[in-house]
Amino acid sequence: MPLIELRGVSKTYPGSKRGETVHAVRDVDLAVEEGEIVGVVGYSGAGKSTLVRLINALEPATSGSITVAGTEITTLSERRLQRVRRGIGMIFQQFNLFHSRTVYGNVAYPLVVAGVPRDEQHARVVELLTFVGLTDKAHAHPEQLSGGQKQRVGIARALATGPSILLADEATSALDPETTADVLGLLRKVNRELGVTIIVITHEMDVVRSLADRVVVMEDGRVVEQGPAFDLFTRPQHPTTQRFVRTLIDDVPDGPTTEAIRRHHDGRLVTVSFRDESVSQSAVFAEIIRRGVEFELVHGGIEQVGGRAFGHLTLELRGDPGAVSDAVAAVGALVETTEVA
Ligand code: ADP
Repeated sequence: MPLIELRGVSKTYPGSKRGETVHAVRDVDLAVEEGEIVGVVGYSGAGKSTLVRLINALEPATSGSITVAGTEITTLSERRLQRVRRGIGMIFQQFNLFHSRTVYGNVAYPLVVAGVPRDEQHARVVELLTFVGLTDKAHAHPEQLSGGQKQRVGIARALATGPSILLADEATSALDPETTADVLGLLRKVNRELGVTIIVITHEMDVVRSLADRVVVMEDGRVVEQGPAFDLFTRPQHPTTQRFVRTLIDDVPDGPTTEAIRRHHDGRLVTVSFRDESVSQSAVFAEIIRRGVEFELVHGGIEQVGGRAFGHLTLELRGDPGAVSDAVAAVGALVETTEVA
């Protein structure tokens, strides 16, 4: 049984004009397995944050069914909902720390609310600060911390009551790339060492690439595509997914790029797509070299998704036209190729 399951879930809000209805989430089916990291991507307004508020029962769904750890939450009383919420940690883009409290006080807060005895609180806070690498900042106030450190406090606080689920809403969007990598590393550790199931909401494909096992793409309240991260990156079906993937991985050069390449390269241009690890790059290049055709890499790159390599390389091929055509045909028999006009 999935840890979180949504069936036919919709959420509407009254719009700003009289009689208008905003369909924030439309008929969403989603299953999250225990121990997974799921990335939810979409542009602003796609319904991602609403989806998260439905999962942690901050708002009721308009229709559909949501189960968390086997409990149907759409019909629960407020008191029972509080118990469900205690099993779900949450971190935010703006960290949402209490500025009047120290790092220690922020992390201890959920334990105080839960009525945990003082000595137990202390042991737990020390354990959490050690886990996120902030023991030396226990008595600092949030304004004395860097963005990355603030988010570490956010993560420690979210984990205080030992939740089995962590929801991260654009948790790295306010951070620079290096700090982002740091925080993503910590989230991976939370998942691997504590077994916490994580849902990350983001508009950054790099976050998804480095973290998610599975990806859900939302647009206009709907889930338009979902699947294992590698499949989604290598064979995106929906135009929105394709656009997101292109923000990270160059495929066939676009018009202006082709024009720039053409200023220095008048040979035949072919984009070669590596998606399948059973075909090595050297096998592809050998087909070209064997025919006495010269080649140069003029565009593209190889990325790692879920520990597997994939990407697109655009080659300029030069030599006898017959040999070049043979080489293109031979390469095309091994991997997907696209002729660049
Ligand atoms: P995202 O997180 O993907 O940016 P949201 O879930 O915040 O998207 O919003 C989805 C849609 O629902 C948007 O059109 C937004 O304006 C609308 N919306 C979200 N919350 C409310 C609300 N409390 N009242 C009215 N409309 C809302």
